[in-house]
Amino acid sequence: MAAGRAAKVGIIGAGSVGATIAYTAMIRGVARRISLFDIASAKVNAEVLDLNHGSLFVPQGMIEGSDDIEVLRGSDVVVMAAGAKRSPGQTRMDLASANAAICAKLLPKVVEVAPDAMLLLITNPVDVITQIALKLTGLPWERVIGSGTVLDSSRFRYLLATHCKVAVQNVHAYIAGEHGDSEIPLWSSASIGSIPLSQWAVKGHGRLTTADKEEIVHNVKDAAFQVIQGKGATNYAIGLAVTNILEALLYDERRVLPLSGLLQGFKGLDDVCLSLPRIVGRKGIEAPLPIPMTVDEEAGLHASAERIRSVVHELGY
Ligand code: NAD
Repeated sequence: MAAGRAAKVGIIGAGSVGATIAYTAMIRGVARRISLFDIASAKVNAEVLDLNHGSLFVPQGMIEGSDDIEVLRGSDVVVMAAGAKRSPGQTRMDLASANAAICAKLLPKVVEVAPDAMLLLITNPVDVITQIALKLTGLPWERVIGSGTVLDSSRFRYLLATHCKVAVQNVHAYIAGEHGDSEIPLWSSASIGSIPLSQWAVKGHGRLTTADKEEIVHNVKDAAFQVIQGKGATNYAIGLAVTNILEALLYDERRVLPLSGLLQGFKGLDDVCLSLPRIVGRKGIEAPLPIPMTVDEEAGLHASAERIRSVVHELGY
């Protein structure tokens, strides 16, 4: 794999999410070449033109796009961000069948043109799509990665940081499980500046009551809906989150990120893709970290796994 700046990043889908990933990746100079593929040729060409018109103001690189999948040839990472998105009132799981069909059509071709690439799945329901992608491509599990709860965890950390009036970077807290309604906040391992959240009581920086915690979790789960209701899609935060994951992969950063990937013998869970904190580097994802969990958190993880598994089976995979 070409490392860091020498890399080529392919993006499938030039919609709200795919185009914003290209924009954030371009601003941060993540890769030398960013290639967008979308069946909507007018849309992909227009997005590429608009991005290229800003090339003077960002680190040097090349942005190209096409309605021909050949444009992804030789990519080091292929980001899958194409497919149906949620309308208000729909759950992510409602998108499963349409988006699984798109993956069945596209992913074998992706492996043909970019056999050495890592696959980073964003399309929802992302855990189901990640598990299906593993089957469709036959790639090693380390290289089939779902963006998972990276975005949910950043929403969680933002809400905790705002409540406790501290910088978001000093909040360490993860959402695990499904990127969706059954996701689990890992309260027992959450901390701010090394103080376990359960003991947080700092003058002028509030405490977390049970009601505060419930409200924060409600807002994390409802976040996408709140954004979609107002503007039709979520794009900026997911664009930044994906660029962060790309940096971890391409620069071998060994960052700990709650990404979705195959579980094999983790706390009694096998053969299901869901999110847990994992170390991420040039070879892809590692097995989940042995993060301490309460009995309730572990039970939540099992329930989340069951939900994902049942949709995967319903789709015939
Ligand atoms: P969008 O409708 O704006 O864009 C989707 C794009 O996919 C369109 O441009 C369409 O032409 C393209 N497309 C459809 N079928 C295709 C095919 N067969 N080949 C190539 N391109 C194809 O949607 P969006 O808002 O960009 O959302 C895209 C996906 O990302 C959705 O499934 C959404 O739910 C998901 N999403 C995931 C997260 C996450 O955290 N994992 C966050 C936001 C959105």
